[in-house]
Amino acid sequence: MDSAQHDLTTMVLLQGLYDQIANALAERQTPPPEVRELQEASKQRQRELEELEQKLEDHQGEISEVKRKESECQIELEHFQKQKGMVTNEREFTAVISEIDYATKALQENSDRRHELEAEIQVMSDDITERRGSREDEEATQNEVVTAWEDRKAELKNIVHDHARQAQELEAQLEPKNRARFARLLKSKGGSALAEVLDGSCSLCHFALRPHLQQRVRRAQEIIVCEHCYRVLYLAEMEESNS
Ligand SMILES: [Zn+2]
Repeated sequence: MDSAQHDLTTMVLLQGLYDQIANALAERQTPPPEVRELQEASKQRQRELEELEQKLEDHQGEISEVKRKESECQIELEHFQKQKGMVTNEREFTAVISEIDYATKALQENSDRRHELEAEIQVMSDDITERRGSREDEEATQNEVVTAWEDRKAELKNIVHDHARQAQELEAQLEPKNRARFARLLKSKGGSALAEVLDGSCSLCHFALRPHLQQRVRRAQEIIVCEHCYRVLYLAEMEESNS
């Protein structure tokens, strides 16, 4: 095999490796829908749990404030009830009664609010306990799916690594000018340095080849590039006959 033929065959192999590398990288960046859904659902549940825990904390803060007010009202009430027994005239009596009414009402309001908060705290605590419990179950079931995806990602990483190493070895076998040309095209043409000739046209830019060029591509004794997109052209059958 002469050097142009050899380099062309090598470039076809290289392009195949780079295509597989690109596919593996793309797949690695795209978790399957079932993994994305699980990740999203898990995040959502975590957010809800955190909101609930925050609400519980707020309620607990409020309840200690309500309890403090409640005992203040209790002390006031006892104070005015003692005073009631010591009043000397009707005016004082009326004033004390009014204070007692006020303190009783405040005590009642605080006590009502405390009961309300206690009931809500109970509901929230139960909810949180249940959510924490069911999260463990959910994590166990989603583990399988996530593990499978992690395994696949590791596999893809190995594919990329192996193919890159193989590509490096093949590139070393190219004539320096062809190696540079291939690298330049790979970079400037979005990862596809080569284009197959299909039905007399470049398969990537669809530019029709002149018959004369088609023949030269078929003979595979020189590197022929597409006149329009400048990618190196090859024919599948040529590739087979030379390998
Ligand atoms: Zn082209």
